[in-house]
Amino acid sequence: AEPTCTDINSALKKILIFASQHRGGKNIEKKLELAEDLPPVYVDPKQIQQVFLNLFLNAVQAMQSGGVLTVSSSLAHVDGMDMVRVQVNDTGPGIPPQILEKIFTPFFTTKAQGTGLGLAISHRLIEQHGGRLSCVSQDGVGTTFSVELPAYCPSQ
Ligand code: ADP
Ligand code: MG
Repeated sequence: AEPTCTDINSALKKILIFASQHRGGKNIEKKLELAEDLPPVYVDPKQIQQVFLNLFLNAVQAMQSGGVLTVSSSLAHVDGMDMVRVQVNDTGPGIPPQILEKIFTPFFTTKAQGTGLGLAISHRLIEQHGGRLSCVSQDGVGTTFSVELPAYCPSQ
């Protein structure tokens, strides 16, 4: 589909509501920390939905016995470029280093019913939008995924 100028905050709110209705999604606390006055990003709404739904459901699945999912947005400056940054943090078990280095590899999964495709596809989609998807995790503390997208929209 065609990219359009998209308000990331309203997209995040909708996707979070959708993810909350998913199995397990009700038992966790959700926090939204959205920056005001963020510039729009130029993305395919369906693809960006797919990326964040993946990240939210991974977080939910990592917190089977409860926890906090925090979604935050901010404006960041990366290598002299304005980027809209979204961070998805969970208080799950975290990802050990030897697993962390494989999570973006297609078909890598630690789940009995997993496809191992969510993060591989998300990584590619974000790069196709000129952005970055990265992960920082601490064993026993939790995991944060960061999505950075160019804070840019062509004038229409
Ligand atoms: P799937 O969800 O089908 O396993 P993904 O590509 O979405 O595939 O994720 C790959 C793997 O990365 C997962 O199986 C899991 O081991 C790890 N992972 C992803 N997100 C998290 C998270 N929030 N907390 C802990 N581990 C995670
Ligand atoms: Mg997944």
